[in-house]
Amino acid sequence: MNPHRIFCIGKNYAAHVAELAQPGEAIDDDCVIFMKPASALVAEGESIVLPRGLGSVHHEAELVVMLTGGGRDIAEDEALDCVAGLTLGLDLTLRDLQSQLKRRGEPWERAKAFDCSAPLGDFKPYLAQDLQALSFTCHVNGELRQHGHTRDMCHSVARQIHLISQLWALMPGDVLFTGTPEGVGPLSPGDRITLASPTLGAYAWTCS
Ligand code: ZN
Repeated sequence: MNPHRIFCIGKNYAAHVAELAQPGEAIDDDCVIFMKPASALVAEGESIVLPRGLGSVHHEAELVVMLTGGGRDIAEDEALDCVAGLTLGLDLTLRDLQSQLKRRGEPWERAKAFDCSAPLGDFKPYLAQDLQALSFTCHVNGELRQHGHTRDMCHSVARQIHLISQLWALMPGDVLFTGTPEGVGPLSPGDRITLASPTLGAYAWTCS
């Protein structure tokens, strides 16, 4: 596993946006784009070391795509030519800290880009399957927490690639976390978390 850059899309499933909305918060259909450093990655089988003393750490189960590159300004209808592989991953989030940062209008790095914040499964080759027709689950200690379907994305994978390429020339090894469905919740040391999809396989980590 040697990803180059890790791009993430936030606010891409309406039911998840609704579950985090503050009372009175206006909900629009715009997404958020942010990045994580390579030190955020955790390969399957390695332990997820959770940050301590900074409030709750939430799991966000997501479809993750590996890109072949492609450069700048990729049209939406050509964007899927840039997809090389698929897997599942976790966009771990310090939720209390993120709420604080949102209230202050500050960037999200501290809540989203810490070490071990991006556990990532092994990539399977992209075989031109419909990326908006994939389902996946997240279990914590055997309990179902999230059950998502990519048809519920506000912005398709192709649109996400188009949006990112407006600002960054896509390079081989770039990785894209495509947003999380509803059901996010806290993790604790000792928890066993499993992501699974009928087409992409199953991946598990233990938190410490
Ligand atoms: Zn996310």
